[in-house]
Amino acid sequence: MKTRDELMGALSGMRRAQIGSRRAPHKPLLVLWLLGRFVNSGSTAVTYAEAEEPVSRLINDFGPAVTSRARARERAAMPFVHLERELWDLRDHDGNPVGPDVPERGNWLRSHGAHGRLSGDVERLLSVPGTPTAAARLLLEQHFTPSLEAPVCDAVGLDLADPDADSVLRPSEAKRRKRRAGFAEEVLRAYAYACAFCGYDGALGRNPAGLEAAHVKWHSQDGPDEVHNGLALCSLHHTLFDLGVLGLLPDLRIQVSQLYVARSPAGQAVDALHGLPLATPRPGRPAIDVRFVLWHGQQVFKRPGAQAA
Ligand SMILES: [Zn+2]
Repeated sequence: MKTRDELMGALSGMRRAQIGSRRAPHKPLLVLWLLGRFVNSGSTAVTYAEAEEPVSRLINDFGPAVTSRARARERAAMPFVHLERELWDLRDHDGNPVGPDVPERGNWLRSHGAHGRLSGDVERLLSVPGTPTAAARLLLEQHFTPSLEAPVCDAVGLDLADPDADSVLRPSEAKRRKRRAGFAEEVLRAYAYACAFCGYDGALGRNPAGLEAAHVKWHSQDGPDEVHNGLALCSLHHTLFDLGVLGLLPDLRIQVSQLYVARSPAGQAVDALHGLPLATPRPGRPAIDVRFVLWHGQQVFKRPGAQAA
């Protein structure tokens, strides 16, 4: 791999390799974590033992939930083993290359002294200012949703506001599948400019303030820009919905994750939403399609047992 374009192409390939509509952010999250490590320390070399806890936590926080606590602790193993070898050099304690056919188990990787590093070519390309940020932007656009970009970057120690990245990213790469103009306005109007969870309807003069149109099935995961996949949400509930703190049952009652904790009355007000019905759209406007509710329930909502202990 000799050019930036090849690097960006390889990173985009992780999106194409997804199976059907299943969200698979494990490899992108490992790469984002490695990008943060590179920017902050100048190298991506890391042992599995060192990466297991922080990378598993990232996947638990920003990936789909798992039900077993044991699996939650070693979620880093899957991307550590399977990250494409054009990007990633994985070796055992004797320095022998490790192929993608070994067990995806934390025990195996630790006992064999597995350690990995982004390939020398990739690290050389990343040493050009702006490139790590451009790579991170690409992965975030392809695998996440805008309200999660800042929390993911904070978690891996990356700053997306790197001015060098603007000159590095070419328009052809920033081919963020364009959101349909009018989506936000149609969704807000369908819910009468009020949060469908809490009813917040604040405005600054004539303009709604702190109200957003959320996708139930994310835009990056091919969720359509249509009212039957949209919800008007206040900024807080939008973020909590995208993080999986808030979810919906197929009968459109609101769910609060049992993993959510809050000490203050303001934080505990979120718990009070549990079991309440979602607001219904105005007459003539379509309700949420249950297929998208099921997607969110499987791919985003944090069910109990999903957290690393
Ligand atoms: Zn709200």
